Amino acid sequence: MHNSQLLKVYKFGGASVKDAAAIINLVRIVREYQADTPLLIVVSAMGKTTNALEELFDLAYQGQEYTSALTRLEAFHREAAQQLAPSLGQDTQATIKAAFDDAFDALRAQLAAVNCHQDYDQQYDQIVSFGELLASQLVAFVLNDTHPARWLDCRPLLRTDESWREGRIDWETTESNLRAAVLPQLQQVHILVTQGFLGGTASGYTTTLGREGSDYTAAILAYCLHAESVTIWKDVAGLLNADPKIFADTVRYPEISYQETIEMAYYGASVIHPKTIKPLAVRQIPLYVKSFLAPAAEGTKIHDCRHGLLAPAYILKVNQCLISFESKDLTFISEENLEVIFGALAQARLKINLMQNSAISFSVCTDFSSQRLDKLLSALREQFTIHYNTGLELYSIKNYDAASIQRLTHHRDLLLEQRTRQTFQFVCRQHLQ
Ligand code: ASP
Ligand code: MG
Repeated sequence: MHNSQLLKVYKFGGASVKDAAAIINLVRIVREYQADTPLLIVVSAMGKTTNALEELFDLAYQGQEYTSALTRLEAFHREAAQQLAPSLGQDTQATIKAAFDDAFDALRAQLAAVNCHQDYDQQYDQIVSFGELLASQLVAFVLNDTHPARWLDCRPLLRTDESWREGRIDWETTESNLRAAVLPQLQQVHILVTQGFLGGTASGYTTTLGREGSDYTAAILAYCLHAESVTIWKDVAGLLNADPKIFADTVRYPEISYQETIEMAYYGASVIHPKTIKPLAVRQIPLYVKSFLAPAAEGTKIHDCRHGLLAPAYILKVNQCLISFESKDLTFISEENLEVIFGALAQARLKINLMQNSAISFSVCTDFSSQRLDKLLSALREQFTIHYNTGLELYSIKNYDAASIQRLTHHRDLLLEQRTRQTFQFVCRQHLQ
């Protein structure tokens, strides 16, 4: 392929490959795509497979019985292949069976080798990565039955460091690896299918990029290969102003800037993995969010655009904790105090979602983790009087107006609120439905 500017990247998440019917729908979407320009497809693990693999690994790590969980996972994948079989040629069926035989043998061997005296996170990556390996092979071979398509193992190409479970990309190596390996193949076949969420270290170990990281993979590939666009296929109509599972009357943004999208992801909008936007923005690659249930519908275009006033976006983070620090002698909170507090928060790996200062106290809202909170309390208890509340919610309204604030606040007791020019945020007790 001479002109990688024509390359498109499609990302199919877990819901879009959750069973045989979903995979048939994926094939239909790809078939409708004009296959005269190259297409790189990124696939996540089927449905809830990653959660199942996490549980499986946990059992193995704790030295508990895991065979029935493994049998269930294997049966789920074999069954999907079985259901697809009638529409596939004999060769394809045999290829899938052989690939699954190999993958499950490898998974069994990995599980048997789990060692509770060795690093948890490193071993987690070697096992939890099987979901993407299985799904991408199934999709590649099913597609190849009717359109020439090839499976691509991204792990030797997408180079990361050894930050297990949140591998950090070595951009230079990754870019040169991908260009050398992928561009020539796309001259031979127009469709390549690879895994989301995975990378590999220089010494050949598998890494994962953080839960829900397949969107990020699509962006890494698009960046390195100078793709023309990325499309993320989801079970919603595009980028919405709120999660329809939580809020009624959502609206879709037909187009939105990279900047707005990054900010929404930061506040906790779950529609796109937060790391996805930056590589795309740097190379000005548009990101389309479309529904795999209504592929002809418009969806959302995320790109470098200016827009007028956007509908307010409502974002909820649950399971929050509000922590207040007071100096013990009633002196004002000073920069020196803040330095100590921030240091302890970083040590405890507590990420600040919101903070506020008053004369003698300083408050932060963080995701709740009892372990991390304990660590923080023991580090700071001597120096500060600390109060905290758990079981809280943090709401952010981006591009708020009076009506949107009223909509969310009128029936809630706010423990803390804050507004900037664009964003209104508040912390309140968890709202029991
Ligand atoms: N399968 C992985 C997960 O569930 C990655 C992804 O879905 O993006 O976290
Ligand atoms: Mg997933």
